[in-house]
Amino acid sequence: MSKRRVAIIGCGQLAQMMAQEGQPLGVEFSFLAENGENTDCVKGLGTIVEMEPGQDPEALYQALGRPEVITSEREQVSVDLLRSFQPFCPVYPDPHITEKAQHRLREKRALTDSGLPVAPFAAAQGEKELREAVDQLGYPAFIKSCENGYDGKNQWCVKSAADLDAAIPQAGDQECVVEAGVNFACEVSIIGARSASGEIKAYPLTENRHRNGTLLLSTAPYDNPELLKAAEGYLATLLKDWDYVGVLAVECFVSESGLIVNEVAPRVHNSGHWTFVGPEASQFANHIRAILDMPLGDTACPVPVAMVNMLGVDVAPKQDNDGVWLYGKALRPGRKMGHVILQDPDMDQLRERSEKMIEELYGEKI
Ligand code: AMP
Repeated sequence: MSKRRVAIIGCGQLAQMMAQEGQPLGVEFSFLAENGENTDCVKGLGTIVEMEPGQDPEALYQALGRPEVITSEREQVSVDLLRSFQPFCPVYPDPHITEKAQHRLREKRALTDSGLPVAPFAAAQGEKELREAVDQLGYPAFIKSCENGYDGKNQWCVKSAADLDAAIPQAGDQECVVEAGVNFACEVSIIGARSASGEIKAYPLTENRHRNGTLLLSTAPYDNPELLKAAEGYLATLLKDWDYVGVLAVECFVSESGLIVNEVAPRVHNSGHWTFVGPEASQFANHIRAILDMPLGDTACPVPVAMVNMLGVDVAPKQDNDGVWLYGKALRPGRKMGHVILQDPDMDQLRERSEKMIEELYGEKI
């Protein structure tokens, strides 16, 4: 049987893990490197095509080996580029979804259009509108630029008039969303896949902890059947409303009034890296299965599992673990260098071991 081919836009660790998990399914990969991006993560995993400015999409499609489907490892990708490939093959997730996810206001409106609860918010640009929005929503508030914001970047938590005075010049004239601060017990995410013919499977809820706005620890399953049901409902609604194909992650706050959606990621997600170890099929395998319209793999996770991110750390830990993934990137402070997975039938033990793992990796409790 001839091999099936998928092209991935992006050459980072998510592309690497999609290819590693897709190859055993008999799939070949090619990668598109944009703007001179580093390709170390995907070396040896398939053809790498360096994109030249203004290059003809058909020539790029040919250079990528005429893939059956094109996908992306990130949402910060040119929507025009994605659309330029559509005459040649399907692009999943569809560019209309990427366009929403790239812009916080469009994203919030799309979420509310689908009936999902989000924090009260207002659009604001420039000092006058920012002050009016914070006035209306109260403290604490989060000012977030609509574009180029991820891992807590380009956003300001304002708890007082002094914080607001300091944030206004930083936000400048960018288009922003101002959100009311949500009082939450913890943050969770749900990850699921929808195949081209409409099959849907979701992983258990994952509890997430961040360090300086970047994910540090994910633990699954977050054992709350009622919230799981709500999260599965949100996920299925978006997958269907957006006619989504591939893996989608939905990040939520656990508040007193239930789950409030913070944001979505139209791709495989860092809070789902633990799926390498728990379920039969990882999120990476299921993304590839979904976009090639293969039956989705099992997502059940009978044994609790945790993932600790290695942020600016690239030395494998000595403590007992169920796998260390090192992405092969050059070390930089705070950079996602790899992750460690731990599994334990006893959730309390798992939490304790995760804390010890963090302490070993970072040399301190976090
Ligand atoms: P984001 O870039 O939107 O994922 O935000 C980064 C982090 O800021 C989140 O993981 C939360 O911890 C916090 N955060 C963002 N928005 C809010 C909000 N409306 N209320 C409370 N915390 C928030």
